[in-house]
Amino acid sequence: MNSEESLISDCKEKVLSGQRITIDEAILLMNISNEFLQLLSSAANEITRTFNGNVVDVETLINAKKGTCPEDCSFCSQSAFYKTDIDTYKLLPAKAIVENAKKAKESGIKSFCLVCAWRGPSDSEFNEICKIIEKVNTEVGIEVNCSLGFINEYMARQLKKLGVKRYNHNLETSRSFFSKICTTHTYQDRIDTAKIVKKIGLELCCGGIIGMGESRMQRLELGLDLVELCPEECPINILVPQKGTPMEPQTKLPIEEILRTVAVFRFLMPRTILKIAGGREIHLANEQEKVLLGGANGIITGGYLTIGGNDSQEDLMMISKIGLEA
Ligand code: SF4
Repeated sequence: MNSEESLISDCKEKVLSGQRITIDEAILLMNISNEFLQLLSSAANEITRTFNGNVVDVETLINAKKGTCPEDCSFCSQSAFYKTDIDTYKLLPAKAIVENAKKAKESGIKSFCLVCAWRGPSDSEFNEICKIIEKVNTEVGIEVNCSLGFINEYMARQLKKLGVKRYNHNLETSRSFFSKICTTHTYQDRIDTAKIVKKIGLELCCGGIIGMGESRMQRLELGLDLVELCPEECPINILVPQKGTPMEPQTKLPIEEILRTVAVFRFLMPRTILKIAGGREIHLANEQEKVLLGGANGIITGGYLTIGGNDSQEDLMMISKIGLEA
């Protein structure tokens, strides 16, 4: 065994025995040569199977309020700062959201995430959201998750009372890169909301976007911050540059970087649902199975907030083809 093989094997054994890898080990894993990337992915897969079994968490999203967001996140076509050609709408009526949840349930999807593009809900918008969740609970009966931006403790408690399982609030990127992608709020604002979610006892879904021009070490920095937040779920989005946003000219992240990030995040968070989210279809094309056999154990299906995605049945077939279960 050469030193890279030994490193992967030693770190894997450490994680499998319940220990954490050190920051130095994480740096070395993140810099493993491409020659040993497959070995790194296989080790991440073994960790995934050991702690999470064969189940892939399949979730669908609904963009319940789209566009005109007052924040300036430079990757986001829903920001009011940029001239993008997306259609925009206010909070959808309850009927449309309930119909959507019904369709998701009928096609075998187990969880449904209600997403709104705004800084955070006003009191009246929050009350409206609560009524919608009540309706989905009584008329559909599907696991409801939410992504409503910045919320306070009162709101988090109300969501918990309504049976919401998981709250999504991403860190987006590393602390050292954050000011390059957003100036209307801070990284600490995001951490604070994530902590409120945990404090109230909702499950936390917290991850970010890779491929925005950050360095490999900044991707690791994000991973290490996430470890401290202990998210039950961590979505990894891969930037799809949106027309009209400052990220439009951003070059594509090589697939090796995606695979290495997913694998190392699995070493860092062995029991978390690592969900490959936006950008999966575009960046991984025919290699989407590789991430599900290389550390990831979740996907978003049926499209994203502003871009389309795979058809759900196609995704469910892919999962069973590689011997996993939805
Ligand atoms: S990422 Fe969220 S907060 Fe930022 S502009 Fe888009 S919708 Fe608004």
